[in-house]
Amino acid sequence: SCILDETNICSSDSFGTLKVPPRSNSTNILSSLETLPLDGYFSFENNHHAARDFGNMYHFLPSVVLHPKSVLDISTTIRHIFQMGSASELTVAARGRAHSLQGQAQAHQGIVISMESLQALEMQVHTGEMPYVEVSGGELWINILHETLKHGLAPKSWTDYLHLTVGGTLSNAGISGQAFRHGPQIDNIYQLEVVTGKGEVVTCSEKQNNDLFHAVLGGLGQFGIITRARISLELAPKMVKWIRVLYSEFSIFSKDQEHLISSENTFDYIEGFVIINRTGLLNNWVSSFSPKDPLQAREFKSDGRTLYCLEMVKYFNPDETKTMNQITENLLSKLSYIPSTLFHSEVSYARFLDRVHVSEKKLQAKGLWEVPHPWLNLLIPKSRISDFAKEVFGNIVTETSNGPILIYPVNQSKWNNKTSLVTPDEDVFYLVAFLSSAVPYSTGTDGLEHILTKNKRILNFCATAQLGMKQYLPHYNTREEWQTHFGSLWEVFLQRKSAYDPWAILAPGQRIFQKAT
Ligand code: FAD
Repeated sequence: SCILDETNICSSDSFGTLKVPPRSNSTNILSSLETLPLDGYFSFENNHHAARDFGNMYHFLPSVVLHPKSVLDISTTIRHIFQMGSASELTVAARGRAHSLQGQAQAHQGIVISMESLQALEMQVHTGEMPYVEVSGGELWINILHETLKHGLAPKSWTDYLHLTVGGTLSNAGISGQAFRHGPQIDNIYQLEVVTGKGEVVTCSEKQNNDLFHAVLGGLGQFGIITRARISLELAPKMVKWIRVLYSEFSIFSKDQEHLISSENTFDYIEGFVIINRTGLLNNWVSSFSPKDPLQAREFKSDGRTLYCLEMVKYFNPDETKTMNQITENLLSKLSYIPSTLFHSEVSYARFLDRVHVSEKKLQAKGLWEVPHPWLNLLIPKSRISDFAKEVFGNIVTETSNGPILIYPVNQSKWNNKTSLVTPDEDVFYLVAFLSSAVPYSTGTDGLEHILTKNKRILNFCATAQLGMKQYLPHYNTREEWQTHFGSLWEVFLQRKSAYDPWAILAPGQRIFQKAT
């Protein structure tokens, strides 16, 4: 299942991992690691798991996996590699939950750091006027949710799925239905502790070492390893009202979405998705959302049309139910959805936030979770979203979608433009996520090759029509493509790389820089 072969001399073993003859001096360098004083340990064998990720398309076997027990373990290891300079070809990849798609958390013959082993820091919740929680970079968001809820608090901005690490999402952005108001997760961080590519341990924030702070947030792991994060919190609601309505016209759907995100008095979470056919409708419904009237949802006839589902959530506490219902009704009365398609449900806040895990368990039980995931995530400027929808939902993705397609707008003005994250140059832009699963070994429309070809058609259209699209969770193969992705930020990105990781040791799986030798 290896579709990337960097060396042309690799072969695949039964795990699909790459086997390349070791380089001449690499044995000495690897044994030098054994002399390092660590609280945790290195593992030199049985590391096949570190050559896998959620995408399940790229498999690069590392030489070593570090299981750190302290921040010092990480800094000692990186400092050692840094001091060897060009004598060593070893690179280092932090591995959170490895929910990357194209090998971004892997290090070909290098060192993978298992971030979940980093138990140096217990979660600490600080209450008060500006509450925050202090966590390890390897902590899972689901654990943060449960810990902060004990204090009646929670982070403000989420991802749709919470079994991801803090370091992993902060290296990208962390975008979900709260991002139109609070910005992505990277904009809700007070402070970080980072181990740079020189092995230095640096505390950074808006006020202290702010260049490194901004570099690391959305920095694709290029400038340092996040070992600790201070995440801002808000009062957590106990319940949510979860609403879905359907549209058959994209223009009306997107107009309503844009209207909703333009106001402060609106829902607390706003997303949407495209329903290509009836199977899509039913799958999306039964997987996690259980409306009070499930029969009604199942019986809705789409007549083969592509439908657009607007998904909204209002937070509330049980003693505010009446007011919440009034506010919700008022907001809904301004929308132009198909009148018979209002579905709603009331669930706990924690149940809502952990909704994708419900689907994960079902897919895992059927053996459908660990299949290839050729996902494509795009950010499209508002001014071109109708052109995008017309071509993509009208001509390219018409019969089946191989998985959910999310689509929702966010406000650039709520996002911090100093981080490394690249977004379209417009006030409002849409996240469009094609979350495809491929059926292993299929050569049909549900197979990997077919889906990758479709993704390419979408990317080609965006380029030809000059939509001003930016990839989220970006993946490119050449330096030129990366340069185009970063645009005017490329020079800053380069400067920061040479300041914080001059030998290009970190996150080689992003394939932006090559280790200097
Ligand atoms: P990994 O895949 O382990 O790592 C990602 C990158 O970050 C790698 O380059 C790695 O080297 C680097 N890295 C990891 N840890 C650190 C660290 N501590 N310091 C520095 N660099 C580090 N994203 C969203 O924004 N919104 C969503 O709603 C969303 N939903 C998702 C749902 C599912 C089911 C999946 C599989 C992914 C989803 N994602 C979403 C994407 C997700 O945010 C990224 O894939 C993220 O990188 C996953 O975190 P991870 O811990 O698995 O990171």
